[in-house]
Amino acid sequence: MGLRTRRVKIGTTELGAGAPIPVQSMCATHTQNIGETVAQARAMAAAGAGVVRIAVDSDKDAAALAEIRRQTRGAVNLSVDLQENWRLSASVAPHVDKIRYNPGHLHHHEREMTVVQKVAFIIEQARNAGCAVRIGVNCGSTDPAQTASHPGDSVGATVESALQHCAIVDALKFTNYVVSIKDSDPKKVIEANRRFAKARPDVPIHLGVTEAGLPPGGVMKTRLAFEPLLAEGIGDTLRVSLTVPNDQKPLEITEGRRIVDDVRAGRFLARDYVLSGLNIISCPSCSRVENQDFVKLAEKVRDLVQPLKEHEITIAVMGCRVNGPGETDDADLGLWCGPTHVNVKRGTEKIGAFKYDEVLDKLEAEIAALIARKKTAAAGS
Ligand code: SF4
Repeated sequence: MGLRTRRVKIGTTELGAGAPIPVQSMCATHTQNIGETVAQARAMAAAGAGVVRIAVDSDKDAAALAEIRRQTRGAVNLSVDLQENWRLSASVAPHVDKIRYNPGHLHHHEREMTVVQKVAFIIEQARNAGCAVRIGVNCGSTDPAQTASHPGDSVGATVESALQHCAIVDALKFTNYVVSIKDSDPKKVIEANRRFAKARPDVPIHLGVTEAGLPPGGVMKTRLAFEPLLAEGIGDTLRVSLTVPNDQKPLEITEGRRIVDDVRAGRFLARDYVLSGLNIISCPSCSRVENQDFVKLAEKVRDLVQPLKEHEITIAVMGCRVNGPGETDDADLGLWCGPTHVNVKRGTEKIGAFKYDEVLDKLEAEIAALIARKKTAAAGS
């Protein structure tokens, strides 16, 4: 826990300034399915979640959130996840304890307005409703201006984006905020958070390795980043993002709490863990998933590549069209799921869309071709 960070209040949860580290998660149910979302939020709170996040992308989601709040009041501290539609902060702020916005998603709507004006709007809603705010920077959707000004330095781009938004929020004289800088690569998570903590030791940090994937590998990948950072006193709250079926979502909380307890007790389980060979990145799913077969697909991909573990290949499996296209760009092969088809990419190049029962054959062929290309390149070098 950061000792020099300031205290931030999210409903009944407090973090920063040496407070115990609360663990967070996010509902993977459809937000408009109020019954399932309330049940999942309660299950996470029962497992010890300090905050539970809900995705809201539309007015209908916002209306559902109001009812979810009514049914969980006093039992769950709620956070809302905004994507491009930052104006929804006005209708959701009265029903949550925290608003998360992504600096990389403020460039799509109402382009005539400046980013500063949009942030001012969000902060105004948070201030009026007594909410906290998370500035949530993500490697897969970094502010394009920062990416352009940091060629080949994705960590620099994410850190600079976070610092820029801290300055905007500071100028608005709002202090009840935290920052997250997430990446799917644990090494980059360590580097980015160290750099940010050095530049802004006062700002509480929410730690996360995004799209860590399926357990148990996803837990170890997360530990690789969290164990050294927490041991250095960096990190005031955290989330372990795992690809698991909906009824197992509270696992994110139990694993997160275990990491915190282990570090406090001096147990570092990832110290000798080496991340090499075949790497599967897969998202933890959320309300935006359009086909519940996404988790099964990720599991089948894991099983398919078991015999190929020694190959240095990264495969990304993402649950939706919102973040799927961008967050598969850095992988050798990427899959992102639509309602009836799975889109397949080779790096940034889209190969095609395939039915759920056909896509594994396509992936297998692409992996074989990729390995053959790598062998040819190695032989020629
Ligand atoms: S990739 Fe899509 S479905 Fe997966 S967590 Fe991100 S927004 Fe949700």
